[in-house]
Amino acid sequence: MFDKLVIANRGEIALRILRACKELGVRTVALHSTADRDAKYVRLADESVCIGPAAASESYLNIPAVIAAAEVTDATAIHPGYGFLAENADFAERVEQSGFIFVGPKADTIRLMGDKISAIKAMKEAGVPCVPGSDGPLTDDNDKILDIAAKIGYPVIIKATGGGGGKGMRVVHTEAALLTAVRLTRSEARAAFNNDVVYMEKFLETPRHVEYQVLADTHGNAIHLGDRDCSMQRRHQKVIEEAPAPGISEEVRNRIGARCAEACRLIGYCGAGTFEFLYENDEFYFIEMNTRVQVEHPVTELVTNVDIVKEQIKIANGNVLSFKQSDISIQGHAVECRINAEDSETFLPSPGRISQYHQPGGPGVRVDSHIFNNYVVPPYYDSMIAKVITHGATRSEALVRMSGALQEMVIDGIKTNIALQQRLINDAAFKQNPMDIHYLESLLSNK
Ligand code: ADP
Repeated sequence: MFDKLVIANRGEIALRILRACKELGVRTVALHSTADRDAKYVRLADESVCIGPAAASESYLNIPAVIAAAEVTDATAIHPGYGFLAENADFAERVEQSGFIFVGPKADTIRLMGDKISAIKAMKEAGVPCVPGSDGPLTDDNDKILDIAAKIGYPVIIKATGGGGGKGMRVVHTEAALLTAVRLTRSEARAAFNNDVVYMEKFLETPRHVEYQVLADTHGNAIHLGDRDCSMQRRHQKVIEEAPAPGISEEVRNRIGARCAEACRLIGYCGAGTFEFLYENDEFYFIEMNTRVQVEHPVTELVTNVDIVKEQIKIANGNVLSFKQSDISIQGHAVECRINAEDSETFLPSPGRISQYHQPGGPGVRVDSHIFNNYVVPPYYDSMIAKVITHGATRSEALVRMSGALQEMVIDGIKTNIALQQRLINDAAFKQNPMDIHYLESLLSNK
């Protein structure tokens, strides 16, 4: 195993990576901004380097500062976590060019998957089911655009190939609105992503969000760890995630998962990754691949007993995958609630000092969080401060445990969404069945 790893992230995922390194006997370097100087993982790391001021653009997104920190600490590898530089192909390239190991896929793979049109093309070639669409960029030929939409059938969605974070998309319900929508999406995409290439897909009206976790090593081995349902979303942000995806048979799970693993082999993927699908009327439609560890990875860890972060690091070290597909089975059910420092009415962030913190516990309860009594939640970053994850023999046992855990959890001094999560977890319809991606917002609007 290599000997020292730089954690190029903050918050709970920095702590998660640190814990994995401790188990693997890898020494850690925590990078932090001035605002995160007193963070728990900074204290727990073997070394730490302040890489800049509070603003992420000058610290966590500052590529030269991250590379310089790896150089001065004589580290071997850099783990980007999620967010920040995790899916930045130029960063991955710079890391490798500077002689460090990037914990993740190759820069070219990140580039391929970061462009939605090229990602969809690669997935089609690999036999992964995709949304019916324009099969490539829309040209300036208006007749052709109208023709494609007529063939797909309304409603359609116009999407920017360089889009992300739910931006650069427009739904079109009628032919009369189509050409204007294409023009507007193009100019928005040019402004936001410096790339005005757009494409068209069938708009699915009531899908669920179902995704597959994969692991692939540098020796051509790839496996899947089953699926997750992340349909409980607000503004395209996941709020509750669970594994396995309810209502999907083992036969279907294994079939779609095997396609994803095969796609990894075909594109030379390595590391942890997620294939995101919309799922409607028993059909899967690939929308995008995330080339990094995800916030919701713990639910998969609890039902498969695989430590995804440790595997990522071992893969980066050049190890052969520790598991074969036949070693993987799904045990019970797991649910994750994201705990945010925010007002549960307005969803505005609520940074500040945590005056009182009690962490829940008991059978099947896991909490991934960097917070503690008197921790000050800084105002500069994402408002997620904890993840509560519960595991049970069945979905209903996992949900009951979640309800108990949320009841036990105390975070005073700032506002959080704990009460909102409690309400969602106890929603009668959600308890019964998985819901589509619009359900949470409809609940919020008619409370
Ligand atoms: P981003 O990279 O911005 O997150 P995605 O392609 O992952 O973009 O899409 C984000 C969300 O937009 C999806 O989770 C889904 O809610 C909605 N969406 C995207 N494509 C479609 C589609 N073809 N039909 C219906 N909803 C879609």
